[in-house]
Amino acid sequence: MQNNKRDSKGRFLPGNISPMKGRKGVHNSPGTEFKQGISNNRLKKNPMWKGGIRNDSSGYVSIKTPDHPHADRYGYVKEHRLVMEKHLGRYLEKQEVVHHINEDRTDNKIENLQLMESLSEHMTLHNKQVRDTNGS
Ligand SMILES: [Zn+2]
Repeated sequence: MQNNKRDSKGRFLPGNISPMKGRKGVHNSPGTEFKQGISNNRLKKNPMWKGGIRNDSSGYVSIKTPDHPHADRYGYVKEHRLVMEKHLGRYLEKQEVVHHINEDRTDNKIENLQLMESLSEHMTLHNKQVRDTNGS
């Protein structure tokens, strides 16, 4: 009788260990998938907005460029001016204006930008366009 009890305990213990090893292997992969899901949703969106790009009230896109000589008090410069400056290889004068050819102020491709020598020249251009569409 005593010999039989010892035998049944001996068989029971190794039987418990092997199923636990199997479970550990299964648990690993869902754990890492879950962590990746959280970081993708929460972390990817925020840095986009803290990257120094701003849409101001006038509809222009501004880029944070604190070292720029014409940056505003928050360190932002209008993107279309930066694109034109890169194209020209110099800073724009304060009186110079960069016009959006297709009138889309967020379309800052160099092909869409036109350098105007002064604000009045720019105003004249826009007035002409308004007159044309009004037919007067
Ligand atoms: Zn314009």
